[in-house]
Amino acid sequence: MTTTLTFLGAAGTVTGSKYLLETGKRRLLIDAGQFQGDKDLRLLNWEPFPVSPSSITDVLLTHAHLDHVGYLPRLVKQGFRGPVWATDGTQQLSEIVLADAAKLQEQDAKNAAKGGYSRHESPEPLFDSEDAEKAMKLFRFADFDKDISLGDGITIHLTRTAHILGSASIRVTTPDAEVVFSGDLGRHDHPVLRPREIPEGAPTVLVESTYGDREHPEWDEEPHEEFADAIRRTIARKGNVLIPAFAVDRTEVLLRTLNQMRDAGRIPDVPIYINSPMGVKALDVYQDPLQRDELREDLRDSELLDMTNVHEVTSTEESMQLNHPNQPSIIISSSGMATGGRVVHHLEHMLPDPRNTVVFTGYQAAGTRGSRLIGGETELKMYGRYIPVRAEVLLDDGFSVHADASDLMDWLKALDPQPKIVFCVHGEKGAPVLAKRIREELGIMAVVPKYKERVVLSK
Ligand SMILES: [Zn+2]
Repeated sequence: MTTTLTFLGAAGTVTGSKYLLETGKRRLLIDAGQFQGDKDLRLLNWEPFPVSPSSITDVLLTHAHLDHVGYLPRLVKQGFRGPVWATDGTQQLSEIVLADAAKLQEQDAKNAAKGGYSRHESPEPLFDSEDAEKAMKLFRFADFDKDISLGDGITIHLTRTAHILGSASIRVTTPDAEVVFSGDLGRHDHPVLRPREIPEGAPTVLVESTYGDREHPEWDEEPHEEFADAIRRTIARKGNVLIPAFAVDRTEVLLRTLNQMRDAGRIPDVPIYINSPMGVKALDVYQDPLQRDELREDLRDSELLDMTNVHEVTSTEESMQLNHPNQPSIIISSSGMATGGRVVHHLEHMLPDPRNTVVFTGYQAAGTRGSRLIGGETELKMYGRYIPVRAEVLLDDGFSVHADASDLMDWLKALDPQPKIVFCVHGEKGAPVLAKRIREELGIMAVVPKYKERVVLSK
């Protein structure tokens, strides 16, 4: 018997994570991520899947980000019926992420039909809400730190990665191979989550390399001071602070950071509004008492779990009112790159007023409104009209929930036994740079796999 691994995504890119592990009559797919970003990549979501989805026996999920779970309803739509193994956090967040993705798909298809720009006769969504609901019914609970037998001599073992709630590395044992999938790895000190742990090593390791070529700034005594200073200035001039943020995890990290700043007297105590339906739902999951064990021990209730200064905005009316708050406020809204969502309405109202400040908290892909604003654009087009940019714009890039190059190397060095080969996945420029470092510093073979490349694994 041989065990083979085929790279069906996140090979030379950071999206579309999918790895097919074939052993005997079993076909396991580790992650079922959507390709995102450039059109060339997005079109891959529409290609026929390389093997029949109905022939896949199991899906194993590392975490609930769209680029790891967003293809699952498509697989279901095409006939996949097996179990989807995931932690409780991953299951709860996947439900939110997939429902939102299905809505976007349906909306896109409707727009395409209206605009007549689709190449298809009747534009169809990649999947719809019904497919997403069907996918959720296939979930099976996989706990951390336990050997779980999937039959046919296959065992899986999940270890915390402190990337988002529920995120895991997965070690898979087959009758003739052992392999560790790192999943996305968090920093060594995630502000909200329980610290990551190191799985048992294996001859073959796949490691993410998003930041394989970069180091994050160290968090010092007064982290995010530039951000805090901008908030103080803005509130002093009676302006509002708008923070575009990713709905899952970034919102939680931001809330804790802001509340810590407030407790330390570094920023004034002003109301914080979360204006993102998906962000509010994700926060509920983080606040679930059953998830307390997954959070940092030193997390104080007032910092995230029981906040008196934070207001959740759900209705559209409340969202509109927020454009004219009756006292200086902080508004957290998605999407993180201001490509869509309620944050666009806020930008339209807040950018022309020089008292306001917009703070971006993550990587801004080229071409997005976020990257244009950070680039210093003085006019921005929204809903077909130009808006003057008079508000202050700031980027705080100290919020990444991905391990940096040193963090990735530390994780690899701690694996026992050490791998014989490391595949650097989930990276663009980071992948070859990390591979070189692994060869030179650890003396281990390191390869950046190609899309659809297949390799034979061993023990
Ligand atoms: Zn992720």
